[in-house]
Amino acid sequence: MTKLRIALLASAGTVLLAAGASPAAVPEKAAAPARAKAPTAAEAKAFVDEAEAKLLALSVDASRNAWVQSTYITHDTEILAAKSNERLIAAGVDYAKRAPRYDGLKLPEDTARKLMLLKLGLTLAAPSDPKESEEVTRIAAAMESEYGKGKYCREKDKCLDLEDITKIMAESRDPAQLLDVWRGWHTISVPMRPQYQRFVELANKGARELGFKDSGAMWRAKYDMPPDAFAKEVDRLWEQLKPLYVSLHAYVRWKLHEKYGDAVPANGPIPAHLLGNVWAQDWSNVYDLVAPKDADPGYDLTKILKAKNLDAKEMVRYGERFFGSLGFAPLPDTFWDRSLFTKPRDRDVVCHASAWDVDNENDLRLKMCIQPTAEDFSTVHHELGHNFYQRAYNTKPGLFRDSANDGFHEAVGDTIALSITPEYLVKIGFLDKAPDPSKDIGLLLNKALEKLAFLPFGLVVDQWRWKVFSGEITPANYNATWWDLRTRYQGVAPGVARSENDFDPGAKYHVAGNVPYTRYFLAAILQFQFHRALSKEAGCTGPLNRCSIYGSKVAGKKLDTMLQMGLSRPWPEALEAISGQREMDATAIRDYFAPLQKWLDEQNKGKPVGW
Ligand SMILES: [Zn+2]
Repeated sequence: MTKLRIALLASAGTVLLAAGASPAAVPEKAAAPARAKAPTAAEAKAFVDEAEAKLLALSVDASRNAWVQSTYITHDTEILAAKSNERLIAAGVDYAKRAPRYDGLKLPEDTARKLMLLKLGLTLAAPSDPKESEEVTRIAAAMESEYGKGKYCREKDKCLDLEDITKIMAESRDPAQLLDVWRGWHTISVPMRPQYQRFVELANKGARELGFKDSGAMWRAKYDMPPDAFAKEVDRLWEQLKPLYVSLHAYVRWKLHEKYGDAVPANGPIPAHLLGNVWAQDWSNVYDLVAPKDADPGYDLTKILKAKNLDAKEMVRYGERFFGSLGFAPLPDTFWDRSLFTKPRDRDVVCHASAWDVDNENDLRLKMCIQPTAEDFSTVHHELGHNFYQRAYNTKPGLFRDSANDGFHEAVGDTIALSITPEYLVKIGFLDKAPDPSKDIGLLLNKALEKLAFLPFGLVVDQWRWKVFSGEITPANYNATWWDLRTRYQGVAPGVARSENDFDPGAKYHVAGNVPYTRYFLAAILQFQFHRALSKEAGCTGPLNRCSIYGSKVAGKKLDTMLQMGLSRPWPEALEAISGQREMDATAIRDYFAPLQKWLDEQNKGKPVGW
């Protein structure tokens, strides 16, 4: 699923293991000051070796502390996690600042690439002032914890956490209740507002010390192209996809208008609380409200899972067996001993699903509060995609142990999840036979509500943050601009008046947790590109939405070749290894949904389109 999962530890792992960029993307201001004696290539290599070893050690330490914090949120674990994270970030900043001294030297390719990664590897650049460094990492940990502990208490002792709210948003069809819990969840971020403002100031200060215009420019510099060119590339991909999204939006709007009456306008944006998800980023929960009568998929995976009475661990075993069918070795025993699969009853944990490689070698773990639902079944396959990626690149040098760019990590998990087709469900004994292909509109619509509906949200989060970091959006209009962007791209609007007393962006994990978000948009594009390529490799000639690579060793080998490259080469090379293409290409997603687009446009005849 294209959503909210982190591959590595956002604030710790990514400091060491971040995506790359071409030397052209390194800002000029970061150039080394003139020195009496020029450094040698041997000194450069010694510097890189030291940095790699030290950052690896610190990141393992930070990961262990972060694991404990995420699975046992207390005052003390927050402090411990923040401290080790601070040490890691400080070391990352220190190496980033020293790396430009070796600019211009003729170096072996790997050494040069590692130097570049050191310069561009930070998600959060703490200022060099120790007090400010301590402050910014403390704020970062505090916001993430506030989010993790966030609850909406309608009455005293009657509190709803995010899991409860997610369930209500998905299942309730009572507009008043939906609005109530939607509004309730958006109260958890109100206290973050002043913290976030200070966080932006300090993070920008740190980024500027490294020679970037601001933190947003630093994030965008990681994509093997100049920051501004990358922003344009994202726009190009969105323009390719927009007609498909607008068709889906128009169709869903008139169907919801039929259901809810004037609460959903016939024209204009859709109220954000009526789309089955608290962020309106995944609409698959309203499938039953918009599904055509004659195109039902013919089965309900959630019902099948419940009937089979699978526990959390068994759900994960299905995911592991999927990878086994592609030729990957089983997960290590420690994975089964150390992972968190269910929500503990006696303490606060960060339930947000994530896949970890704690020692950056083989200490793989899943942290997830698993429920027997179709969504979680898919999420398990997705998260294991991260774990198998982590293991595939673990023989590479420390600085190359990450995905080709951060979209790749998410895309791999989602590519695997795209193979959860009716044919796969037959093969694992969940279905007796696959439904007739004439039922595909139902399946495609369901998938579109999840994947296509997500795309503009995948853009908006960082469109907003890039502008916040650059100063184009000021604290005085944090919330108004958030909703301007959401309306412009997603065509959704809040169902209740918002003001600058609110801080709605902070009600999204990745803002509170400072995790860049564009990766999910890229992942949404890339996964279809990967799926199209691997399906072809697996010999699937049918429609793309019916192709599963389950059981194909040839496709598995192709996938593994790309996974093993890690971050050792620029991402276009990794993309070429798996797909034969060097550019991101939204035509695969259009191929996948082509029959649906045709169908939607027929349904929308005579109806308003756009907002
Ligand atoms: Zn993920």
